Amino acid sequence: MSTPHFERVAIIGIGLIGSSLARIIKRDKLASEIVAVAKRPETLEKARALNLADRYTLDPVEAARGADLVVLATPLSAYADIVRRIADVLRPGAIVTDVGSVKQAVVRELKPLLPAGVHLVPGHPVAGTEFSGPEAGFAELFEDRWCILTPTAGTPQAPLEKVTRLWQAAGMKVVNMDPAHHDKVLAITSHLPHLIAYTIVGTATDLEAALQSEVVKFSAGGFRDFTRIAASDPVMWRDVFLANREAVLEMLQRFTEDLTELQRAIRRGEGDKLEALFTRTRAIRRSIVDAKQA
Ligand code: NAP
Repeated sequence: MSTPHFERVAIIGIGLIGSSLARIIKRDKLASEIVAVAKRPETLEKARALNLADRYTLDPVEAARGADLVVLATPLSAYADIVRRIADVLRPGAIVTDVGSVKQAVVRELKPLLPAGVHLVPGHPVAGTEFSGPEAGFAELFEDRWCILTPTAGTPQAPLEKVTRLWQAAGMKVVNMDPAHHDKVLAITSHLPHLIAYTIVGTATDLEAALQSEVVKFSAGGFRDFTRIAASDPVMWRDVFLANREAVLEMLQRFTEDLTELQRAIRRGEGDKLEALFTRTRAIRRSIVDAKQA
């Protein structure tokens, strides 16, 4: 695998994901110039202090002008407005890619906004933490994780390959997928678990004060793992649920049915049913560990 080279990479959204990618591009000298964009001046100052890029601006248009690679790494709800603004200054042959956790909505929204000759390569590096901002990023974030690209019918091979090699340089295993399939897979593997975590932590927070202090004290019993997930960025996750509404609702429906069945088994004292399910789920955990994704 040869490493790709870009002239100017504009990273719009220099947060956890954007800054981690910037660190790799810098480390491996994958671009002649990196331009970092944030919404607030204080974020840009943090990025500057960390020396993540060569230029810093609050203006996506200034960053995208002349860039051969534009990486959208903001919350999903900001994408369309940014692309509307930068569309006119994108140079022919430029690649626009993204890192968003939902893919169908991205393709649907962005494709009509881009001029002919600019290539959209939607992507999702499936790696992250519950932390946000440029100081939370690190170059090893993507190592040995999967990156899903969802090229559209019109995406030529060359830009697709270049983005593939970029994520491979970050240590990722890259796979191509249909956007609708991506959204279903991620709805069950990522979005629903976050929803459940947000719910259970919310329920515990609403308990009366006496119980609440015990919840923190005895959190190692399982609750602690949910609080880590439920500490994830509120804006990012609001956008994920709104952008992947259909797939999340479908998975939630199935989950609710299964939960009701479990509830019935507990009420009826059907230990065999409970044990059978818990045995099956334990095997899933083992397969994740075996696949080195634990
Ligand atoms: P983050 O750490 O909060 O970073 C978001 C960045 O976007 C910040 O630099 C923010 O700047 C900037 N931004 C927000 N609105 C903007 C706008 N209108 N114009 C320019 N910049 C803007 O978020 P993240 O965790 O990196 O997530 C970014 C994307 O990655 C999301 O679309 C998410 O779906 C995807 N993703 C996240 C994870 C994860 O685990 N976190 C994993 C895979 C993919 P300010 O700080 O100035 O507001």
